[in-house]
Amino acid sequence: MIILKDIKKSFNKSQVLRGINLKINRGEVVTILGPSGSGKTTLLRCLNFLERPEAGIVQIGNIQLNAKNATKKDMLSVRKQSAMVFQHYNLFAHKTVVENVMEGLVVAKKVKKKDARMISEKVLEKVGLSDKLHFYPSQLSGGQQQRVGIARALALNPEVILFDEPTSALDPELVGEVLSVIKEIAQEGITMVVVTHEMSFAKEVSDRVLFMDGGVIVEEGTPWEIFHAPKEERTRRFLQRIS
Ligand code: ATP
Repeated sequence: MIILKDIKKSFNKSQVLRGINLKINRGEVVTILGPSGSGKTTLLRCLNFLERPEAGIVQIGNIQLNAKNATKKDMLSVRKQSAMVFQHYNLFAHKTVVENVMEGLVVAKKVKKKDARMISEKVLEKVGLSDKLHFYPSQLSGGQQQRVGIARALALNPEVILFDEPTSALDPELVGEVLSVIKEIAQEGITMVVVTHEMSFAKEVSDRVLFMDGGVIVEEGTPWEIFHAPKEERTRRFLQRIS
């Protein structure tokens, strides 16, 4: 279970998150939609303390932190409850595919190398990359690199996986393979929060869709409620613009 209470975040005196309240149940898949600059990425980054909110409470699993007085150690312990999949993959260029996946296990989780390798090979099989274990990122397509990013997150077996626009850096023909891997893992009951501009993905995969604008959650509901019967004018305008 993830709980956010009144999360606020500013950059240079401009308030980007204006009091976010959110509860996400275990196994739930939540997608976040909204115009550019509405605070979607900032919300994800505050959730795992990659950015420190200036106020509010974050709870992931059984760890709860008050942003105002969290220590570095506290923030690290929350971060360890989650794994993030980034828009630009953020792989280590000088490490092979399997080494990229092992890295977090060995360094952050102190798993023995031999066990880390076994776990990594297993998750790489899940994302369809068993034949690329010893390739370097530069030898892979963008879609394959992002699948390594997903495998790396899965390997950590986190409370929640946070996806920050995981397909927006990809050529259109590579988007499908990444979305179908994400869909598959969604069906396994892993809690996921996905910032995306892929409306069909949000419709098909989410248990719940949030629409953000101006640093607040304007509206939330099931995909049907948001896409077919939005209550808020701002949501309607956004959906009309992008369809
Ligand atoms: P997009 O869909 O374009 O990625 P977003 O909804 O994810 O947008 P954010 O990336 O959260 O929006 O950014 C919200 C606002 O906060 C923007 O105006 C952005 O310029 C600003 N911002 C984000 N990160 C920083 C930072 N580290 N320093 C200064 N301003 C920032």
